[in-house]
Order: sequence, then structure tokens, then C-alpha cells
Amino acid sequence: MSLLRLTAALLTLGLGAGSAQAEEAPLAPDLVRFKGLYKELVETNTTLSVGSCTLAAERMAARLKAAGYPDADIRILAPEDRPKDGNLIAILHGKDPRAAPLMLLAHIDVVEANRADWVRDPFTLIEEGGYFYARGASDDKAMAAVFVDSMVRFREEGFKPRRDIKLALTCGEETADIFNGVEWLLKNHPDTLKAGLALNEGAGGRLDAAGRPQFLGIQAGEKVYQDFTLEITNPGGHSSRPLKDNAIYRLSNALARLGAHDFPVALNDATRLNFTEVAKLETPETAAALRGVVADPTNAEAVAQVSRDPSRNSMMRTTCVATMVNAGHAPNALPQRAAANVNCRILPGVSVAQVQAELAAVFADSGIRITPLGDADPSTPPPLTEAVLGPARKVAATIWPGVPLIPAMSTGATDGRFTNAAGTPTYGLSGMFGDPDGGGTHGLNERIRVRSLYDGRTFLHAVTKLYADQK
Ligand SMILES: [Zn+2]
Repeated sequence: MSLLRLTAALLTLGLGAGSAQAEEAPLAPDLVRFKGLYKELVETNTTLSVGSCTLAAERMAARLKAAGYPDADIRILAPEDRPKDGNLIAILHGKDPRAAPLMLLAHIDVVEANRADWVRDPFTLIEEGGYFYARGASDDKAMAAVFVDSMVRFREEGFKPRRDIKLALTCGEETADIFNGVEWLLKNHPDTLKAGLALNEGAGGRLDAAGRPQFLGIQAGEKVYQDFTLEITNPGGHSSRPLKDNAIYRLSNALARLGAHDFPVALNDATRLNFTEVAKLETPETAAALRGVVADPTNAEAVAQVSRDPSRNSMMRTTCVATMVNAGHAPNALPQRAAANVNCRILPGVSVAQVQAELAAVFADSGIRITPLGDADPSTPPPLTEAVLGPARKVAATIWPGVPLIPAMSTGATDGRFTNAAGTPTYGLSGMFGDPDGGGTHGLNERIRVRSLYDGRTFLHAVTKLYADQK
């Protein structure tokens, strides 16, 4: 049997070295370069504690310069008092200066990671078993690296889009309570983030347990993050003479009532479309429930069924949950104060005041003071038009034939909340498929499938061109 036929036989049988050899075929030169860029970005520590976004930005800027971008089109911007929190803005000029730019938005900072807790060094890119492992391997250096690589390739390809393409690599997405680069840029350099449409993190593709693509997500809109502090005080006294009126009991009762409470269901374009499309992939029972909620959000039976899935429950209503409590001042004294933090994720279009009023009604205890923490960043979900969905669907069909594009509203927060609120319609779209367990994002041993990263690169490069040339 000729070597060729033997190899073919082994491949079909999926036996031993044959298939491994096929999988380990050398990478194409452009992928080798991309992997090098990705490795450099991932291995530049950009944690708040010891890292530097500015260093990462400088390294990416150097690659753009080497590709021929003039200095005038590359800027690294950082607050004077935070020199390590640099943000990179670069522009590929389009043919039509009047057309609104397309923005490629990605954050280069990462969540902290402790070497001792990880199997591998979190700040060394390790390829193993078909995965890349490292902090930021997925969130969000996968998209950041793809965007820089695309900007380099656009120049090499002589691609002249209709619209300007703006690359924005920002710092502080993970530390908005301390510093957020997008918020700072919008305040201090608003021109840098102005665009007619922005692609951002926020949605990838879902793989089933066997690793097959199930659906590709596109995120439009996100819930609003809002903390409330609850506080109740009491005169207290000696614990040997307990009273019925006890600060801890009153707070606990109120929190127990919150635990049993569900905010009303309210769907928007993204969630309605999501439930309708996901129903096509679900079991008949779940599909019927999803369709039931879309048809009538007050259908209690359908709502109860859909609510069993925490992500879907969170997509269709505001949620508030107790996350921290603090009470009492001495073991032998009746508590004089009990306090708690309640974290809410508010549906777009619902005000903080409305939620506060509902919390007060649920607690049913006027002794409990409810105080919103910080200013929420309400943002209107961007429109889900054919101009947005069409190009994504078109490119997805060439890479993942038959895999549906499904809109979703994010229950977590991204920097899209700032850019949407500033008038730049921002969509979560990565083209990167992930495992159902979330791939260790923000947690231990963060990973991304090698295939998912490379396919996502192909997807984003092509879809960026379509959006940038759109009329
Ligand atoms: Zn992120």
C-alpha cells in the first residue's frame, strides 16, 4: 500500500500518528506571525497589580509602525497620574471621510491571576491538547490580537475601505471601580471612540459537549450593573435580654423575601430574537416554553420553565441578589447595625429608581435604608438591523455552514455600556466558539481552543471588511 494510501487509511481510521501528523501540519506563515503577536500580547502582564497596559500598547504599536502606519495615525493615551494604564488608538483611513468610522474595540487589561493557584504559569502562553492556556488567552487578548493582526494585514493587502477603521485597545475594563480606559477616553478624548458601529467582546459561539458549533452569538445591549447598600440600625442592648426587634432578623427577613422574589419578565429585540432562534435548537419541551414566553411574557407556566436556566432567567428580567452582609459589633451585644450589598443587573430601559422602589416594596420594612452605590451607566441597546446581522450571517455561513447567528443581550457588563451610551452602536461579536463551561474566564486555567481562535481570526477579518465597506 503506497505511503499516500496508507496515510489516507490511517486518517479515516483516525488511528495514531497519521491524524496527529495531519493536525500538526506546519502553520501558514501568516498564522505563525499571528501566533507570535498573540503570544507577545498575552505574555505582557497587564494586571492592575503589577502589569502595564502601556507596555502592551507600545508593543502592538510597534507592529503597526512596522506595517507602515504613520505616527500620526497611532496614539497611546494614558492619564498623567496613571502612566501604566495606556490605551492605543490607531486608524486606517477610508476612501470616504464623511462616512462614520468602524471601530474595533478590545480591552488589553486582564483579571488578576495567582501563579500558585494555576496548573501552568498564567502569564506564559501554553499550547496543549488543542487549547491555548493563559490569563487573557480568551478575555480579551484573543480579539485584541486578531484586531491588530487585521490592521497589519489590511495594509499589506492594500485594503482601502470606504469607512475609516479605528482600532481601540483599552485598559481598565476589568477594574471599572478603579479606572476604566473607555470611560476616561470618552471624557478626555471623545473623538477617539466616535464611530458609526463598533465590534467588541460580549458574544462568541457555543460548542456542544462534543465540540460541535451549535450557534454563533451576536450581543446587542447589556444589562446595567447597579449595587445597592441596605442598612438598618437598632438601639441594641445586652444579649442576655434579647428583643423581638433585632436588626439582623429584620435584615435577614427582608433578604429572604428578596430571595423569593422575581422581577417581572420583559423582553426586548435581542432577547425575543434569542429565545425564538434558540428554541429551534432545543428539546420540544424547552422550545415550547421559550415560544410561550415570547408569545406572552405573563404566561406563568412557560416563564417558570424557562427560569430554570439561570442565563435565560437573567436575560428576561432584572435580577437583584444579596452578595455581602455585615452586622453586629460584639458577640454579647444585641446588634446595633446590620448591612448588606445587593447587586442588581437591570434590564435596559428600566431606571435605577424603579428598581429601588421595587426593592423597598419587597423588603416591606421602612426601617431598612436602601442606597444606590455609584452612578449606573444605563445604555440603550443598539438596533438589530439587517445591516448589522447580514454581514455576520454571510461570513459565518462560509466558515460554519448551517450554524445559526443568534442575537443575545449580555447579562454581564462590557465597555459597550459606555460606548453605546455615548452614541456608538456597539455589538459583541467575536466569532470564537467556546466550551459550555466558559473556559475559565476570570477564573483558573483560562483557555481558548486553538481552532476557535484561528477560525475567529478568519471570521473577524472578513466581517470587518464587509462592515467597513458598507454603504
Ligand atoms: Zn473582558
